[in-house]
Amino acid sequence: MNKIYPICVIGGGSAGVMAVLRTVLNNDETLFFPGTKKDRKKSREKWVKKVENMPGHLEYTRGIQEPNLESLNWLAEGVFKKKFHWKKDLGVTSLVKTGDVFKVTDSEDQVYECKHVILCTGVTDVQPHIQESIRDILPFANKQTADYCLRCDGHHVFDKELAIIGETNSTAWVAIMLYERYRNTTVNILTNGKKVEFSDETSKLLEAYKIEVHDEEIMQILGDVRSGSLDGFVLSEGKNISAEICFISLGMIVYNELAIAAGAEVDQRGFVLTNPKGETNIDGLYIAGDLRAGLKKQIYTAWDSAVDAADDINAKIRRENRKKVLELN
Ligand SMILES: Cc1cc2nc3c(=O)[nH]c(=O)nc-3n(C[C@H](O)[C@H](O)[C@H](O)COP(=O)(O)OP(=O)(O)OC[C@H]3O[C@@H](n4cnc5c(N)ncnc54)[C@H](O)[C@@H]3O)c2cc1C
Repeated sequence: MNKIYPICVIGGGSAGVMAVLRTVLNNDETLFFPGTKKDRKKSREKWVKKVENMPGHLEYTRGIQEPNLESLNWLAEGVFKKKFHWKKDLGVTSLVKTGDVFKVTDSEDQVYECKHVILCTGVTDVQPHIQESIRDILPFANKQTADYCLRCDGHHVFDKELAIIGETNSTAWVAIMLYERYRNTTVNILTNGKKVEFSDETSKLLEAYKIEVHDEEIMQILGDVRSGSLDGFVLSEGKNISAEICFISLGMIVYNELAIAAGAEVDQRGFVLTNPKGETNIDGLYIAGDLRAGLKKQIYTAWDSAVDAADDINAKIRRENRKKVLELN
């Protein structure tokens, strides 16, 4: 008979590492797939640099990966090491529930059986295409002069000329919110060639705050790719927009494929629906982190949702064991 692992954690970002930390410290044997190098490259954990909106993180230059690795190494060497099966550099390619176990296939085609799964595959932010390529924005994203997350990095715009790249009413609200908070002297919205109709209220506020909307295509980013210092953008027809910092507001790609394949329900944007403990409509399948519907997309919410899932599974395991004890006595 195959071994059935009590818990499998899929994803090695903020939620996945907190999930595995909690399940192993709860003394529940855990199989852990952090993802392949390719999975990690597509994830947010890889792109997070300095974390300034949480205490204790200022020393790290890669604010998710560095502390995560410290905790994983500590677990792998510590007293619970026999309960921790860390499948380094492996991802999961298939997740199917058969009877009351999940069959998990890894990126090397090995199949495992697990009783509970905490899925933490996250999301990624849509990048702007400059002349059909996303490469041009990346050096600036690396140096945080192109930012994505308002709660994390919104404060970077203070006292700077600001541009917002995006093409929806939400983009306009990112601009409005940042202006209301930081009163930047220059705020421009760049729709990168898309014609956008804003609601009446939005248009009135943009006008009142002197936020201009430019619907020409972005042809070039001005600045120094080495230092990441941003000077602005050249739009089609030669228009120059000055900007020292930009925010990207183009939405998210949700990595929900495994959840959907296992039968989990998702909302209109693709985030996976769960109960308050993070369990989906599929018994034993839990979601933590950015993938879960209705949560802030932040490290601390990823942590909290991971702990809720791990502890709920532990309570189920303990209840089952307790039942057996009572039956025997
Ligand atoms: C540029 C940027 C800066 C940010 N800064 C901050 C900040 O300062 N403070 C803050 O609180 N939040 C910040 N955030 C948000 C934060 O990154 C996310 O909320 C957090 O990473 C979510 O954790 P997660 O585990 O859900 O996803 P992620 O951390 O993105 O992890 C997803 C994991 O899933 C794995 N994976 C994907 N597919 C598979 C698969 N098939 N099999 C196995 N594994 C798989 C990946 O390898 C990865 O390890 C920032 C986001 C961005 C984009």
